[in-house]
Amino acid sequence: MARSRRPVITLDGPAGSGKTTTAQAVAKRLGFRHLDSGALYRALTFALLKEGVPEQEWRALEAEQLTALNVEVEAEGDVVNIYHDGVLLTSDLRSPEVTSSVSAVAGLPAVRDWLLDVQRSVGAHGNLVADGRDMGTVVFPDADVKIFLVASLEERARRRLLQDHGREPDVAEIQEEARRIDQRDQADRSRSHSPLRRPEHALEVDTTGLPFDDQVSLILRRVKDLTPL
Ligand code: C5P
Repeated sequence: MARSRRPVITLDGPAGSGKTTTAQAVAKRLGFRHLDSGALYRALTFALLKEGVPEQEWRALEAEQLTALNVEVEAEGDVVNIYHDGVLLTSDLRSPEVTSSVSAVAGLPAVRDWLLDVQRSVGAHGNLVADGRDMGTVVFPDADVKIFLVASLEERARRRLLQDHGREPDVAEIQEEARRIDQRDQADRSRSHSPLRRPEHALEVDTTGLPFDDQVSLILRRVKDLTPL
């Protein structure tokens, strides 16, 4: 098959497997746009919580009501910005409240359908590195390069805490975070709409003992092998 000169590269995997930081680094090296699709699900979750929409009403939400939440995605050059009511969303997206509700929101078919067009329009011109749970399976099934990142549950919990608190976590903290991550993985794997799974033909990379730079190099090599870049 002839591969695109403006390729799409997808990175999928479970929570805390390092997709976003890796995708960011790969995109930077290639001069491509980076789409963090988890941030989109987080933005809708943030807006629902902020607007005080009760959780028991989420199942009945339709596209019109999602549009009325006033979440906007602007892609310009390499940068993708997400706004709520005109305010740029950054650290709010990673609050514990958003993190604990996001999988419930991501399981709603109306939310996934609403975000499908948004994601495809961000990637419409290629030269994109997209990370998430269904990038290679549903959103960009024809992607030129597909990667599936995995790591042990404890390692993923450790990295998440290190990233959030800037220090090495202790064993009890790791166990507690591992429990939370595992719950989110179960929800993401078992939902009926676009569940988390390894895309066909994806290269699986286990990053448990792999230094970050090696991970990035390995993916860049795969991109070089599979695209005419
Ligand atoms: O990657 P991140 O942890 O920011 O993703 C937050 C949540 O968004 C995931 O746990 C998952 O429920 C949802 N998500 C998804 N599909 C994607 C990206 C994220 O369902 N493509």
